[in-house]
Amino acid sequence: MAFLISAVILVVLIFLLKYLPVKSGVLIEGVFKKMECGSDFNGRESTAYWFENYCKDCFERRNFENNSIYGKCLATVPTRAWNRSTFIPEAGDSIKIIARKNIFGTIKIYKIVKTDFLETYRPKQRALYEEHFRKLGEALDKRGALEKGMSVEEYRESKREETIRYAMEELGMSREEVIKNGMHEWGYGSIHNEARRRKLIAELGREATHEDVLEEDRKIMQKVASNYPNQECLEPYEIEEYGETGTLPENRLLHLNGCTSCYIQASINRNNWVLTHTPPGPECFSKNELHIIHETGTLPKERLEHTKNCKKCKYDFDVNKTTYLERVAPIPREHCPSIVFTLDPKDIKAFYARKAELLKL
Ligand SMILES: [Zn+2]
Ligand SMILES: [Zn+2]
Ligand SMILES: [Zn+2]
Repeated sequence: MAFLISAVILVVLIFLLKYLPVKSGVLIEGVFKKMECGSDFNGRESTAYWFENYCKDCFERRNFENNSIYGKCLATVPTRAWNRSTFIPEAGDSIKIIARKNIFGTIKIYKIVKTDFLETYRPKQRALYEEHFRKLGEALDKRGALEKGMSVEEYRESKREETIRYAMEELGMSREEVIKNGMHEWGYGSIHNEARRRKLIAELGREATHEDVLEEDRKIMQKVASNYPNQECLEPYEIEEYGETGTLPENRLLHLNGCTSCYIQASINRNNWVLTHTPPGPECFSKNELHIIHETGTLPKERLEHTKNCKKCKYDFDVNKTTYLERVAPIPREHCPSIVFTLDPKDIKAFYARKAELLKL
């Protein structure tokens, strides 16, 4: 009898421990982006809540990689957990997920609540965004200057001059007009899009907006996607195999020749392999010279002439020079903070709607 009672108590205890949600806490807080169903490491059904950029926790701890994958924060809950939320979040909503876990740390109940995250963290996230592009711009200018053998100021001036000329050509405007309208500060992409918008106006015989230009892009992407071969793209090992041998089994070659992206990748790989495996000629760079490029990024002028008529040495030169530049003028590799936090809060939902529209193929 006593045994039976203790057995019953034990079963009840295990039941309680397993199913009783005891610990409550905030799982994550931030700007909600999307929900995705999948399965966790143990193959159990789970729902992932993705957030825009960094969540509150990452921000507070200045640990931007904490809860995130590629700089994007997320929280997963078991699909069978009880969702007690009274609303379904939309992209752009500031929310937090409060979860109750059992003693083993499994989420049993959760609730999504609206917060003021966006209002509080927008200036901080925005500052981070600006800082990112300032640092990136500086690094790129430093590298560009080194590559061209100029000072950073000279390099910036030459870039400004190039953009002015590009805008004059693309938009058919005079130098004075370009500068007066500040168009040289738009960057190549925006200048090009403006030129396309003007072309569209001429074609359609009516006013056209940048949205119309994007719509055109979407149509082109749709066409490309529908022409894409159905067969699967080459795996990295196949690209490598093609690089080393210049060939593949027949059905894979068929794909290669029909798929632009695979073709480009495989060809680059093949060319590089051939170049690195070509024995050097008597004029080619010696081991010592390659080491000098690696250490200083260059060689005496008369030796550099050789890269003009030797692909192998041009390739070796570029590889070693890149290593050098990466060492003396590294490009920041951290994840780019989200543009959403630079927008006016009232425009954020429209921003997500437009993005969803563009992704629809
Ligand atoms: Zn986070
Ligand atoms: Zn392919
Ligand atoms: Zn050579």
